[in-house]
Amino acid sequence: MNTMHVPVFKGAGQLAYEDRPIPQIDHPTDAVIKIEACGICGTDLNILAVPPAHKATPNIIIGHEGVGVVSDLGDGVTGLAVGDRVVIAPRLTCGQCYYCRRGLDNQCTNYQTIGTTIDGAFAPYLRAPQSALYKIDPDVPRDDAAFFEPLSCVVGAVSRVPMQAGDTVVVIGAGPMGLLFAETYQTMGAGRVILVDVAQNRLDFARELGFAQSINPAKADLSQTVLDITGVGADIVVDAVGNQFAAALKLARRGGHLLLFGLRPHDQQTLNQYQITRYDLTIHGAFVGLKPFQQTIQLLESRRVRPSRLITHRVPLAELPQGVALMRSGQGMKVMVETGAQEAVGWVG
Ligand SMILES: [Zn+2]
Ligand SMILES: [Zn+2]
Repeated sequence: MNTMHVPVFKGAGQLAYEDRPIPQIDHPTDAVIKIEACGICGTDLNILAVPPAHKATPNIIIGHEGVGVVSDLGDGVTGLAVGDRVVIAPRLTCGQCYYCRRGLDNQCTNYQTIGTTIDGAFAPYLRAPQSALYKIDPDVPRDDAAFFEPLSCVVGAVSRVPMQAGDTVVVIGAGPMGLLFAETYQTMGAGRVILVDVAQNRLDFARELGFAQSINPAKADLSQTVLDITGVGADIVVDAVGNQFAAALKLARRGGHLLLFGLRPHDQQTLNQYQITRYDLTIHGAFVGLKPFQQTIQLLESRRVRPSRLITHRVPLAELPQGVALMRSGQGMKVMVETGAQEAVGWVG
Protein backbone atom coordinates (compact mmCIF):
# COMPACT_ATOMS: atom_id res chain seq x y z
CA MET A 1 0.00 0.00 0.00
CA ASN A 2 1.72 3.16 -1.18
CA THR A 3 -1.34 5.32 -0.90
CA MET A 4 -3.24 6.92 1.95
CA HIS A 5 -6.91 7.86 2.07
CA VAL A 6 -7.03 11.50 3.14
CA PRO A 7 -9.37 14.49 3.30
CA VAL A 8 -8.41 17.04 0.63
CA PHE A 9 -9.43 20.71 0.74
CA LYS A 10 -11.41 21.49 -2.39
CA GLY A 11 -12.16 25.16 -1.80
CA ALA A 12 -15.46 26.78 -0.75
CA GLY A 13 -15.76 24.86 2.51
CA GLN A 14 -15.41 21.48 0.81
CA LEU A 15 -13.43 18.43 1.94
CA ALA A 16 -13.31 15.33 -0.26
CA TYR A 17 -11.57 12.03 0.58
CA GLU A 18 -9.04 10.90 -2.01
CA ASP A 19 -6.23 8.39 -2.33
CA ARG A 20 -2.88 10.15 -2.35
CA PRO A 21 0.63 8.67 -2.55
CA ILE A 22 2.39 8.32 0.80
CA PRO A 23 4.95 11.16 0.75
CA GLN A 24 8.59 10.25 0.21
CA ILE A 25 11.83 12.12 0.85
CA ASP A 26 12.22 14.76 -1.86
CA HIS A 27 15.13 16.93 -0.66
CA PRO A 28 18.09 15.76 1.48
CA THR A 29 16.83 17.90 4.38
CA ASP A 30 13.32 16.36 4.38
CA ALA A 31 11.85 14.01 6.91
CA VAL A 32 8.74 11.87 6.65
CA ILE A 33 6.62 11.80 9.78
CA LYS A 34 4.08 9.17 10.73
CA ILE A 35 1.40 11.46 12.13
CA GLU A 36 -0.23 10.16 15.31
CA ALA A 37 -2.75 12.92 15.89
CA CYS A 38 -3.58 16.42 14.71
CA GLY A 39 -5.77 18.95 16.49
CA ILE A 40 -8.48 20.90 14.69
CA CYS A 41 -7.64 24.61 14.93
CA GLY A 42 -9.81 27.71 14.62
CA THR A 43 -7.75 28.41 11.51
CA ASP A 44 -9.07 25.19 9.97
CA LEU A 45 -12.62 26.36 10.70
CA ASN A 46 -11.75 29.69 9.04
CA ILE A 47 -10.30 27.90 5.99
CA LEU A 48 -13.48 25.83 5.68
CA ALA A 49 -15.83 28.78 6.22
CA VAL A 50 -17.90 30.16 3.31
CA PRO A 51 -16.71 32.77 2.45
CA PRO A 52 -13.30 31.72 3.79
CA ALA A 53 -11.85 33.73 6.67
CA HIS A 54 -8.36 32.30 6.05
CA LYS A 55 -6.69 31.56 2.73
CA ALA A 56 -5.67 28.04 1.77
CA THR A 57 -4.60 26.48 -1.50
CA PRO A 58 -7.20 24.13 -3.02
CA ASN A 59 -6.22 20.47 -3.44
CA ILE A 60 -3.96 20.36 -0.43
CA ILE A 61 -4.33 18.38 2.77
CA ILE A 62 -4.97 20.81 5.65
CA GLY A 63 -4.05 20.40 9.34
CA HIS A 64 -1.08 22.00 11.09
CA GLU A 65 -1.29 20.90 14.74
CA GLY A 66 0.29 17.50 14.20
CA VAL A 67 2.41 15.29 16.41
CA GLY A 68 4.15 12.20 15.09
CA VAL A 69 7.19 10.01 14.87
CA VAL A 70 9.98 10.27 12.31
CA SER A 71 9.66 7.36 9.88
CA ASP A 72 12.21 8.34 7.22
CA LEU A 73 15.01 10.87 6.93
CA GLY A 74 16.90 12.51 4.08
CA ASP A 75 20.69 12.17 3.98
CA GLY A 76 21.21 15.80 4.96
CA VAL A 77 19.15 15.77 8.15
CA THR A 78 21.11 16.14 11.38
CA GLY A 79 19.93 15.90 14.97
CA LEU A 80 16.91 13.71 14.26
CA ALA A 81 16.61 9.94 14.16
CA VAL A 82 13.94 7.56 12.93
CA GLY A 83 11.60 6.97 15.86
CA ASP A 84 11.97 10.43 17.40
CA ARG A 85 8.73 12.12 18.41
CA VAL A 86 8.41 15.49 16.71
CA VAL A 87 6.01 18.39 16.54
CA ILE A 88 5.58 20.87 13.70
CA ALA A 89 6.20 24.60 13.40
CA PRO A 90 4.11 24.93 10.25
CA ARG A 91 5.22 28.30 8.88
CA LEU A 92 8.18 27.98 6.51
CA THR A 93 9.84 31.35 6.02
CA CYS A 94 12.05 32.35 3.10
CA GLY A 95 14.97 33.89 5.00
CA GLN A 96 15.49 36.37 2.14
CA CYS A 97 12.66 38.90 2.17
CA TYR A 98 12.79 42.29 3.88
CA TYR A 99 11.08 41.04 7.05
CA CYS A 100 13.10 37.84 7.36
CA ARG A 101 16.25 39.95 7.07
CA ARG A 102 14.91 42.33 9.72
CA GLY A 103 14.45 39.39 12.09
CA LEU A 104 10.65 39.65 11.81
CA ASP A 105 10.22 36.27 10.20
CA ASN A 106 6.61 35.90 11.37
CA GLN A 107 5.94 38.70 8.84
CA CYS A 108 7.76 36.92 5.99
CA THR A 109 6.11 37.97 2.73
CA ASN A 110 7.15 34.83 0.89
CA TYR A 111 6.16 32.05 3.29
CA GLN A 112 4.62 28.63 2.89
CA THR A 113 2.55 27.06 5.64
CA ILE A 114 2.14 23.35 6.23
CA GLY A 115 -1.60 22.74 6.18
CA THR A 116 -2.48 26.02 4.45
CA THR A 117 -0.40 26.37 1.30
CA ILE A 118 1.27 22.93 1.24
CA ASP A 119 0.13 19.51 2.45
CA GLY A 120 -0.58 19.26 6.16
CA ALA A 121 -1.09 16.78 8.95
CA PHE A 122 -4.66 15.51 8.62
CA ALA A 123 -3.01 12.46 7.07
CA PRO A 124 -1.20 9.32 8.25
CA TYR A 125 2.09 10.64 6.79
CA LEU A 126 3.57 14.07 6.19
CA ARG A 127 6.77 15.17 4.49
CA ALA A 128 8.30 18.26 6.04
CA PRO A 129 11.67 20.00 5.95
CA GLN A 130 13.78 19.51 9.04
CA SER A 131 13.55 23.25 9.75
CA ALA A 132 9.83 22.80 10.56
CA LEU A 133 10.37 19.95 13.02
CA TYR A 134 11.05 20.10 16.74
CA LYS A 135 11.98 17.02 18.72
CA ILE A 136 10.06 16.61 21.96
CA ASP A 137 10.71 14.35 24.95
CA PRO A 138 8.62 11.20 24.45
CA ASP A 139 7.65 11.38 28.15
CA VAL A 140 5.46 14.40 27.32
CA PRO A 141 2.03 12.87 26.74
CA ARG A 142 1.28 12.77 23.03
CA ASP A 143 -1.91 14.75 23.50
CA ASP A 144 -0.07 17.58 25.28
CA ALA A 145 2.58 17.61 22.55
CA ALA A 146 -0.21 18.01 19.97
CA PHE A 147 -0.80 21.53 21.36
CA PHE A 148 2.71 22.66 20.42
CA GLU A 149 1.62 24.95 17.56
CA PRO A 150 -1.27 26.81 19.28
CA LEU A 151 0.75 27.01 22.49
CA SER A 152 3.69 28.47 20.55
CA CYS A 153 1.38 31.25 19.30
CA VAL A 154 0.48 32.00 22.93
CA VAL A 155 4.10 31.87 24.11
CA GLY A 156 5.01 34.23 21.27
CA ALA A 157 2.15 36.61 22.06
CA VAL A 158 2.69 36.84 25.83
CA SER A 159 6.38 37.61 25.28
CA ARG A 160 5.39 40.99 23.79
CA VAL A 161 3.78 42.32 26.96
CA PRO A 162 5.79 43.17 30.06
CA MET A 163 4.32 41.24 32.95
CA GLN A 164 5.03 41.17 36.66
CA ALA A 165 4.35 38.39 39.14
CA GLY A 166 0.95 38.96 40.67
CA ASP A 167 -0.53 40.87 37.72
CA THR A 168 -4.24 40.61 37.02
CA VAL A 169 -4.93 39.29 33.53
CA VAL A 170 -8.35 39.37 31.87
CA VAL A 171 -8.73 37.01 28.92
CA ILE A 172 -11.68 37.69 26.60
CA GLY A 173 -12.72 34.45 24.91
CA ALA A 174 -12.77 31.11 26.75
CA GLY A 175 -12.25 28.95 23.68
CA PRO A 176 -9.11 26.82 23.20
CA MET A 177 -6.81 29.82 22.63
CA GLY A 178 -8.27 31.81 25.52
CA LEU A 179 -7.77 28.85 27.84
CA LEU A 180 -4.17 28.41 26.63
CA PHE A 181 -3.56 32.10 27.44
CA ALA A 182 -5.13 31.58 30.87
CA GLU A 183 -3.01 28.51 31.61
CA THR A 184 0.18 30.17 30.37
CA TYR A 185 -0.39 33.36 32.39
CA GLN A 186 -1.22 31.30 35.46
CA THR A 187 2.02 29.36 35.01
CA MET A 188 3.91 32.67 34.58
CA GLY A 189 2.74 33.87 37.98
CA ALA A 190 -0.34 35.99 37.37
CA GLY A 191 -2.08 36.92 40.60
CA ARG A 192 -5.49 36.55 38.99
CA VAL A 193 -6.74 35.29 35.68
CA ILE A 194 -10.31 36.27 34.84
CA LEU A 195 -11.98 34.63 31.82
CA VAL A 196 -14.71 36.37 29.85
CA ASP A 197 -17.16 34.67 27.48
CA VAL A 198 -20.84 34.90 26.59
CA ALA A 199 -20.99 31.08 26.25
CA GLN A 200 -21.69 29.85 29.77
CA ASN A 201 -20.74 26.25 28.88
CA ARG A 202 -17.22 27.46 28.07
CA LEU A 203 -16.94 29.25 31.42
CA ASP A 204 -18.23 26.11 33.16
CA PHE A 205 -15.61 24.06 31.34
CA ALA A 206 -12.93 26.57 32.39
CA ARG A 207 -14.10 26.28 35.99
CA GLU A 208 -13.60 22.51 35.86
CA LEU A 209 -10.01 23.18 34.76
CA GLY A 210 -9.51 25.39 37.81
CA PHE A 211 -10.19 28.84 36.32
CA ALA A 212 -12.82 29.81 38.85
CA GLN A 213 -12.98 33.55 38.14
CA SER A 214 -15.06 34.35 35.12
CA ILE A 215 -17.52 36.92 33.85
CA ASN A 216 -20.36 36.34 31.42
CA PRO A 217 -21.15 39.74 29.81
CA ALA A 218 -24.61 38.44 28.91
CA LYS A 219 -25.37 38.22 32.63
CA ALA A 220 -23.29 40.96 34.24
CA ASP A 221 -21.83 44.36 33.35
CA LEU A 222 -18.33 43.43 32.20
CA SER A 223 -16.32 46.57 32.94
CA GLN A 224 -18.09 47.18 36.26
CA THR A 225 -17.43 43.59 37.37
CA VAL A 226 -13.72 43.84 36.46
CA LEU A 227 -13.58 47.10 38.41
CA ASP A 228 -15.37 45.51 41.39
CA ILE A 229 -12.88 42.61 41.44
CA THR A 230 -9.70 44.60 40.86
CA GLY A 231 -10.47 48.08 42.17
CA VAL A 232 -8.58 49.68 39.27
CA GLY A 233 -8.90 47.46 36.21
CA ALA A 234 -6.66 44.74 34.81
CA ASP A 235 -2.91 45.04 34.29
CA ILE A 236 -3.17 43.03 31.06
CA VAL A 237 -6.23 42.40 28.88
CA VAL A 238 -6.02 39.73 26.18
CA ASP A 239 -8.47 39.65 23.31
CA ALA A 240 -8.33 36.00 22.27
CA VAL A 241 -11.33 36.44 19.98
CA GLY A 242 -10.04 38.98 17.48
CA ASN A 243 -12.82 41.59 17.51
CA GLN A 244 -12.95 42.68 21.16
CA PHE A 245 -10.61 45.70 21.09
CA ALA A 246 -13.34 48.17 22.09
CA ALA A 247 -14.49 45.97 24.97
CA ALA A 248 -10.90 45.32 26.10
CA LEU A 249 -10.16 49.07 26.25
CA LYS A 250 -12.67 49.46 29.07
CA LEU A 251 -11.10 46.75 31.22
CA ALA A 252 -7.47 47.87 31.55
CA ARG A 253 -6.18 49.92 34.45
CA ARG A 254 -4.42 53.21 33.70
CA GLY A 255 -1.05 52.38 32.15
CA GLY A 256 -2.23 48.85 31.39
CA HIS A 257 -1.55 46.69 28.34
CA LEU A 258 -3.85 45.21 25.71
CA LEU A 259 -2.78 42.11 23.82
CA LEU A 260 -4.78 41.69 20.61
CA PHE A 261 -4.81 38.15 19.26
CA GLY A 262 -7.16 36.20 17.00
CA LEU A 263 -7.84 36.78 13.32
CA ARG A 264 -11.19 38.23 12.24
CA PRO A 265 -10.41 39.77 8.85
CA HIS A 266 -13.98 40.80 8.05
CA ASP A 267 -14.86 42.49 11.36
CA GLN A 268 -14.94 46.24 11.98
CA GLN A 269 -15.51 48.08 15.22
CA THR A 270 -15.83 51.56 16.64
CA LEU A 271 -13.69 52.56 19.59
CA ASN A 272 -12.80 55.58 21.65
CA GLN A 273 -9.15 56.49 20.96
CA TYR A 274 -9.25 59.06 23.79
CA GLN A 275 -9.13 56.22 26.32
CA ILE A 276 -5.78 55.01 24.96
CA THR A 277 -4.21 58.47 25.12
CA ARG A 278 -5.78 59.69 28.34
CA TYR A 279 -5.02 56.51 30.30
CA ASP A 280 -1.60 55.68 28.83
CA LEU A 281 -2.61 52.31 27.45
CA THR A 282 -0.23 50.22 25.37
CA ILE A 283 -1.66 48.13 22.54
CA HIS A 284 0.15 45.06 21.20
CA GLY A 285 -0.88 43.20 18.05
CA ALA A 286 0.39 39.64 18.00
CA PHE A 287 0.40 37.46 14.90
CA VAL A 288 1.67 33.94 15.65
CA GLY A 289 5.04 34.24 17.33
CA LEU A 290 8.57 35.31 16.63
CA LYS A 291 10.63 32.17 17.18
CA PRO A 292 8.77 30.96 20.28
CA PHE A 293 9.40 27.32 19.49
CA GLN A 294 12.24 26.29 21.80
CA GLN A 295 10.54 27.92 24.81
CA THR A 296 7.31 26.15 23.92
CA ILE A 297 9.10 22.78 23.85
CA GLN A 298 10.66 23.60 27.22
CA LEU A 299 7.29 24.62 28.67
CA LEU A 300 5.66 21.38 27.50
CA GLU A 301 8.62 19.33 28.76
CA SER A 302 8.38 21.06 32.15
CA ARG A 303 4.91 19.45 32.41
CA ARG A 304 3.68 22.61 34.15
CA VAL A 305 1.02 23.08 31.49
CA ARG A 306 -1.40 20.33 30.54
CA PRO A 307 -3.18 21.57 27.43
CA SER A 308 -4.58 18.10 26.66
CA ARG A 309 -7.24 18.86 29.28
CA LEU A 310 -8.91 20.96 26.56
CA ILE A 311 -9.62 17.88 24.44
CA THR A 312 -13.33 17.07 24.57
CA HIS A 313 -13.68 14.82 21.53
CA ARG A 314 -11.66 12.53 19.31
CA VAL A 315 -12.53 11.56 15.77
CA PRO A 316 -10.83 9.21 13.32
CA LEU A 317 -9.38 10.75 10.15
CA ALA A 318 -12.37 9.44 8.20
CA GLU A 319 -14.62 11.71 10.28
CA LEU A 320 -12.76 15.01 10.04
CA PRO A 321 -15.90 16.83 8.77
CA GLN A 322 -17.82 15.68 11.86
CA GLY A 323 -14.96 16.92 14.05
CA VAL A 324 -15.05 20.31 12.33
CA ALA A 325 -18.82 20.47 12.95
CA LEU A 326 -18.32 19.66 16.65
CA MET A 327 -15.91 22.57 17.01
CA ARG A 328 -17.99 24.94 14.93
CA SER A 329 -21.11 24.29 17.02
CA GLY A 330 -19.17 25.09 20.19
CA GLN A 331 -19.98 21.57 21.48
CA GLY A 332 -16.35 20.57 21.26
CA MET A 333 -13.65 22.63 22.97
CA LYS A 334 -10.74 20.92 21.23
CA VAL A 335 -11.26 18.05 18.84
CA MET A 336 -8.29 15.74 18.22
CA VAL A 337 -8.13 13.84 14.95
CA GLU A 338 -6.64 10.39 15.33
CA THR A 339 -4.79 9.97 12.07
CA GLY A 340 -3.94 6.32 12.53
CA ALA A 341 -6.47 4.61 14.79
CA GLN A 342 -10.03 4.04 13.65
CA GLU A 343 -11.92 4.99 16.79
CA ALA A 344 -15.50 6.12 16.96
CA VAL A 345 -16.47 9.70 17.75
CA GLY A 346 -16.79 10.01 21.48
CA TRP A 347 -16.71 12.24 24.51
CA VAL A 348 -13.39 11.91 26.30
CA GLY A 349 -14.64 12.86 29.75
ZN1 LIG B 1 -3.47 26.16 14.95
ZN1 LIG C 1 10.80 35.93 4.22
